[in-house]
Amino acid sequence: MKIESVKIERATHTKTIPPAKEFGFGRHFSDHMALLDYSSRNGAPRQWHSPRVVPYGTLQLDPGAAVLHYGQALFEGLKAFRGDDGTVRLFRPEMNWKRLVSGAERLCMKAPPLKYFTEMLTAFCQVESRWIPREPGCAFYLRPTLIGTEAFLGVRPSEDFLFYVMGSPVGSYYGEGSDTVKIKVETEFVRAAPGGIGAAKTGGNYAASLKAALEAKAAGYAQVLWLDAVHRRYIEEVGTMNVFFKIGDSIITPPLDGTILPGVTRDSVLQILDSEGLKVEVRPLALDELLEAARSGTLKEVFGSGTAASISPVDSLGIHGENVQVGDGKAGPVSTLLKKRLTDIQYGRVEDPWGWTLSVNSSP
Ligand SMILES: *Cc1c(COP(=O)(O)O)cnc(C)c1O
Repeated sequence: MKIESVKIERATHTKTIPPAKEFGFGRHFSDHMALLDYSSRNGAPRQWHSPRVVPYGTLQLDPGAAVLHYGQALFEGLKAFRGDDGTVRLFRPEMNWKRLVSGAERLCMKAPPLKYFTEMLTAFCQVESRWIPREPGCAFYLRPTLIGTEAFLGVRPSEDFLFYVMGSPVGSYYGEGSDTVKIKVETEFVRAAPGGIGAAKTGGNYAASLKAALEAKAAGYAQVLWLDAVHRRYIEEVGTMNVFFKIGDSIITPPLDGTILPGVTRDSVLQILDSEGLKVEVRPLALDELLEAARSGTLKEVFGSGTAASISPVDSLGIHGENVQVGDGKAGPVSTLLKKRLTDIQYGRVEDPWGWTLSVNSSP
């Protein structure tokens, strides 16, 4: 398929990049954004067109746009890492594209072809090169977003779409010093039900989760651990991360059954664990089994996996107001190993045995 090349319009006024310690997560946006339209031009059939990088600014959207009423929205999250050698690498962008495609299928949207997806990301990173940090542990977070833009209030899928990419320099997700996190087992609210949209990275799932997250935060937890919507018994995932448990000498994570977000980091963790010869079980894990393991002392480690925080060790689980400590309450050896393996590949410190990274030509 032939695609148009990305047109670049540079910002005449550029922002001052804040010092790395003030990055936070998704607080500062870079000077540009990348846009791509799906619509009809001059009466021709609808197609993807006009890929462009333009100065960062507000979007022009009809107040009747589908995204604003019926929630046709998908997003992705991936990072561009600047290695010690200055090379910028994207981590498994094709996986993000695949997830966008399956989300689009579920939400009756159109996703851009892989070539456009990759071209938009690389062109954007090239233009925003100075925003891609050199400081250890920092990266340039990319947020590809797809929305239905057609103005029409009858309930049906939008026929026009906008795909855009914005970027933000980020530090570590949970802030400095907080190595491990406390997670609240959520027993009242649920995130996603079988047959629903839990596997799609769509704002609707987050809208459903905000209240639980807010209450958990107020009680001193970083995020919630979701249980399944039917039995309220099986572990699903953590707020913005997939989750792993080391019980005895086995590392357990729930299967992707449509209610869990298929994380790129989750997939990478499974491959790394396998290559390390560690025992992995992808199977349903009941809360009772987890609490029993904690009581009997066989629960060694709990950690979340996601692009934002990479690997996030959990030191305790809150259940009905009680705190259950995990292992010795410190980051365990498996999460430590995984974090190192992942970041070594992402920053180009070691060979990339799976071909996960995509280098972006960019002058520092
Ligand atoms: C994005 C996301 C994850 C993690 O996915 P990664 O591709 O590893 O970043 C996990 N759970 C939810 C709900 C998410 O939105």
